Amino acid sequence: MNKNMNKNDGTNNKRVLENTLERLYAVKRKTPWSIFVLLLLLYFIANFTVSNSAGSSTNINIMGYPIPLYTFAGVFSSLSNICILLITMYFDKIGFITSLFLLTIQIPVIISSIIFRKNLTSLPGIFGNLLAVVAVILIYLNNKKIKDYNKKLRDQALMDILTGLPNRFANLELLTELIKREIPFAAVSVDINGFKSINETMGYDIGNKTLIEIADRWKKIADENLSGTLDFVVRHGGDEFALVIRDFNSEDDIVKTIRMYEEALKNHLTITEYEFYVSASFGYALYPDDADDIDSVFLYADMAMQEVKHNNSSNHIMKFTKDLKKEERTLEIEGKLREAIENDTLFFNLQPQYDMNHKLRGFEALARMKDEDGKYISPVEFIHIAEKVGLIDKLDSIVYKKSASFIGNMIKRTGTDIMLSINVSVRHLMKSDFSDEIKTLLDSSGIPPRLLEIEITESIMIDSMDKAMNSIKEIKDMGVQIAIDDFGTGYSSLSYLNNFPATLLKIDKSFIDKMNMGDKSKQYVAAIISLGHIMGFNVISEGVEESDQIETLREIGCDYIQGYIWGKPLPQEEAEKLIMSTYKID
Ligand code: C2E
Ligand code: MG
Ligand code: MG
Repeated sequence: MNKNMNKNDGTNNKRVLENTLERLYAVKRKTPWSIFVLLLLLYFIANFTVSNSAGSSTNINIMGYPIPLYTFAGVFSSLSNICILLITMYFDKIGFITSLFLLTIQIPVIISSIIFRKNLTSLPGIFGNLLAVVAVILIYLNNKKIKDYNKKLRDQALMDILTGLPNRFANLELLTELIKREIPFAAVSVDINGFKSINETMGYDIGNKTLIEIADRWKKIADENLSGTLDFVVRHGGDEFALVIRDFNSEDDIVKTIRMYEEALKNHLTITEYEFYVSASFGYALYPDDADDIDSVFLYADMAMQEVKHNNSSNHIMKFTKDLKKEERTLEIEGKLREAIENDTLFFNLQPQYDMNHKLRGFEALARMKDEDGKYISPVEFIHIAEKVGLIDKLDSIVYKKSASFIGNMIKRTGTDIMLSINVSVRHLMKSDFSDEIKTLLDSSGIPPRLLEIEITESIMIDSMDKAMNSIKEIKDMGVQIAIDDFGTGYSSLSYLNNFPATLLKIDKSFIDKMNMGDKSKQYVAAIISLGHIMGFNVISEGVEESDQIETLREIGCDYIQGYIWGKPLPQEEAEKLIMSTYKID
């Protein structure tokens, strides 16, 4: 929390807003001051020339014709008046005062010239001067009228008509200014609880009056600086309000301020003949601690406010925390998942698996999902969420059906053995009809059971396998293969492993990564492979990326390889090409 904030008073608060609004909506004075100085200079030169040429009897020669100098006096006099008019037009009040001053001090000068020098040629100058004064006043008044009109327009654009509070645009302007000047603030998102039912049961008129009354109470706190912090109350629309709090020393100050706004609603509202109570939910986030742009800081404040509503507890104030963001992301992915399932846009990639002689063994089917911009969402993220929200069995089944139909077809077309490995999540595995689902899958795809492999992750296997053991035994009895995925990341005991009806051990990538870094790491992988063999499993290494890893794995007796070095996960069409070229089929 930044404690070095400049303490301002309410006047400053308003001034900042005024200035920002002014910048947006008022007529902007773009004319630079250098033009002002230039016009003044021109004015003095023109004036000086007028007074020197008016009484002169000198002629100047233009193209052989002698022209008396005094005939130019009128030109210079007009020039000086133009300068005066321009200054009035473009430099508001200062321009007006300067012009008026310059014009009026000229009058006694002209009069004294007429009286003392008996120079009557200056007489029309007085009338010209008076006319210029009238023009300057008219221009100034007209400018002012336009300015007032603009101000009115600006106020209408930035003010919420119902409550008279600043609106969303005004808030945006203020926040842009605060962020530009790096002034810390708390953005508070406020929602009136149960406002919809006030509208529905008592009518919109009472609803509107309720909003006005709430706004008046809050406006009073902000305008009179009752909270001790600098507050700006905004109506975003409907029953949504926002507070921007500044000049706090700690988070306690923020909570105290919000509590004051909450308590302002504690007294019942009397609207026409009705008396009732309202309450509000407040969520807040901090600039710059939580977010450093307007959208995020209000989004986070909103998340916290939604959480208050969701919790429905007696505490109506909540601060944004990173957990809420995770929650939000979960909701977002869940939405995308549901959409993908409904629109049938979930798909799969196939990552090839090879034996040590680089002969194709088969493929692992990996779920894939894109968002609406066509960007991939990582399975690491969406699989976890699908598990959490109970969508994993649907997702798995889609991947199973699509990939099995493809591989079944390939097996038929090539007449060769192509293994299909599919991943299963424990929640899915524990469903009572899991083995029925696999049976249907085998029947519909035509894949022989020995060419279907179910991958079960080691870490989840130990926790929950007892409940799923029946299903596993049933599918094993059908002749389906069972693989222990990500082996080494869990803590399965030797006796557990020995009794587990697996056929393949998949060594996790993390071991392969470290394998060539030291003798011990290599021995460790070698031990896993031996152990697997002793227990009767084949062993595959996952995440193999380098050729010296293949060499080592060959040396220590690994059976299969799956990794980017020999094949990344491929789209169906690419996998088809790979199969066709492997088996030399056109
Ligand atoms: P997994 O089953 O261990 O799958 C292997 C993961 O390692 C895949 O990540 C694969 O792309 C990646 N990988 C393979 N070789 C390499 C390599 O050489 N280098 C690197 N850096 N990565 C490699 P992916 O596709 O992101 O899948 C992540 C995990 O999501 C899978 O790990 C699996 O546990 C889960 N998953 C994927 N599809 C499904 C599905 O259809 N159902 C279920 N239940 N889980 C799935
Ligand atoms: Mg796997
Ligand atoms: Mg794995």
